[in-house]
Amino acid sequence: MSESNETNVSLKWQDFRVAPEGAKIEQNLNNPNIRYENLSNTQKEWVKCAIEVVGLPTRNISFVRYEENTSENQNWLGSVNNADGSMRIYSRLGKTDISPEKRIGTMYHEGVHTITAFDDKNDDFYGSKEVREEVKHYMKSVADQAVITGIPLNEYHASLLAALGKKEEDGGITIGRFYRETEAILSEMRATDTESLSLVQERQQAVYEFMQLLHDPSVEGYEFTRLASGTDSSDLVGVEKTLAILHRVESKAELEERFDKIRKFAKENPSPFIVEPN
Ligand SMILES: [Zn+2]
Repeated sequence: MSESNETNVSLKWQDFRVAPEGAKIEQNLNNPNIRYENLSNTQKEWVKCAIEVVGLPTRNISFVRYEENTSENQNWLGSVNNADGSMRIYSRLGKTDISPEKRIGTMYHEGVHTITAFDDKNDDFYGSKEVREEVKHYMKSVADQAVITGIPLNEYHASLLAALGKKEEDGGITIGRFYRETEAILSEMRATDTESLSLVQERQQAVYEFMQLLHDPSVEGYEFTRLASGTDSSDLVGVEKTLAILHRVESKAELEERFDKIRKFAKENPSPFIVEPN
């Protein structure tokens, strides 16, 4: 039969609107009435579908707003303010040097900020207070490990690492902010850039083992914190355990399926939204 040749139909964002696995997340963990501000209809469709394909609970998102970058935030791609439930998407996200994976990765990153384990109002996303506390502890260990080994997760993490310990007026950030960004960056990378994350893990482990060999006091009493499993493992390891809970899936295979879909969406729908005039 010749029909089999036609199965490679590309998925459009409309196809992601009815994501059956999205239904697995309980109703009360989602906001069915997110408002969209300053977006054209096409832009709004893309954002809606991106949020849906990301598949994280949306209860804490009240509205999504598009904004032009200013001289003060010229590198920002997205931001979240949990005080008013706003998520912002900046014009920089539509620039051609931002890859499709980075665009959807940003949506994932901001989504994680809205359900952070560092907020005790978020217990039910994690199933219980105990699990949320465990996730918080894990994210702190990952952040500390980047500090100790001197190896950040990505470029943005490197800039945050450099800002740690500086005064606020010199662009410094608090350790709390560093923890929450680590949580979002780690999750984003596992969902949309797992190859880079594996490389980071290898490099951190090599440095860590070398420091142990030298009896460096900063690694004494520390166990190496795994970031994720390798591609050959079928176990949920490191951040994968957290993401499996947030996505309400049981296995690494199911989680991988989610991430495949996210990356596929990104490739096939490389954001029509930002470049077009509003
Ligand atoms: Zn962030």
